[in-house]
Amino acid sequence: MIAIKDNIAEVELQISSACQQAHRNTAEVTLLAVSKTKPMSMIEQAYEAGQRNFGESYVQEAIEKITALQDKTDICWHFIGPIQTNKTKLIAKNFSWVHSIDRAKVAIRLNEHRFGQDTPLNICLQVNISGEESKSGVSVNELPALLNTIAECENLSLRGLMAIPEKNASQASFTCMQNLFISIQKQYPSVDTLSMGMSADMQFAINAGSTMVRIGSAIFGIRAHK
Ligand SMILES: *Cc1c(COP(=O)(O)O)cnc(C)c1O
Repeated sequence: MIAIKDNIAEVELQISSACQQAHRNTAEVTLLAVSKTKPMSMIEQAYEAGQRNFGESYVQEAIEKITALQDKTDICWHFIGPIQTNKTKLIAKNFSWVHSIDRAKVAIRLNEHRFGQDTPLNICLQVNISGEESKSGVSVNELPALLNTIAECENLSLRGLMAIPEKNASQASFTCMQNLFISIQKQYPSVDTLSMGMSADMQFAINAGSTMVRIGSAIFGIRAHK
């Protein structure tokens, strides 16, 4: 059996060591445990170990888990996968956070479907920082227009930016995200989250001010497929 608790402790150690190297306080970086494709029992083990933030990428699968674990009211569910507009209702009604918004249409739909809920939906805009054509994410050029749209959405709370830099990206890509983050933070006081960093690039991300790292396989084991 995989010792989820030990894996989380190990990842937390890596986070604090990266923070130390970057001369940052460990408390500034939140661990988002990416549980996509992994069974409920593993999420429960992580929960028992104190983990509260979980990331999911597939709507149907996620909602089964969210429904089954609804008694654990302190779990915070983050949607981090690509968003089809026909899934925006389910996402808006079931998640606390969405990290992967990259176009106005999706933002507007999420805003409509969040209407009437106690809290706004926390959102990060996904930026295609490496400019890869195959990757999702808003381009840096189109970001200001998307920010203007979000500002009109009263059921969305803009929390920050998210990025998945290309494999083997240099520190410069991460620093570029940091600069964008700092500049929108000046414009929008609600912005406090830079969702950036996975196992392989955690040090670069934390050097560049990441406040949330998204880690899956190092906690739950490698995924067989998807
Ligand atoms: C799957 C996923 C992760 C985690 O990836 P691992 O390689 O399992 O750590 C992080 N971010 C996003 C957006 C993902 O889809």
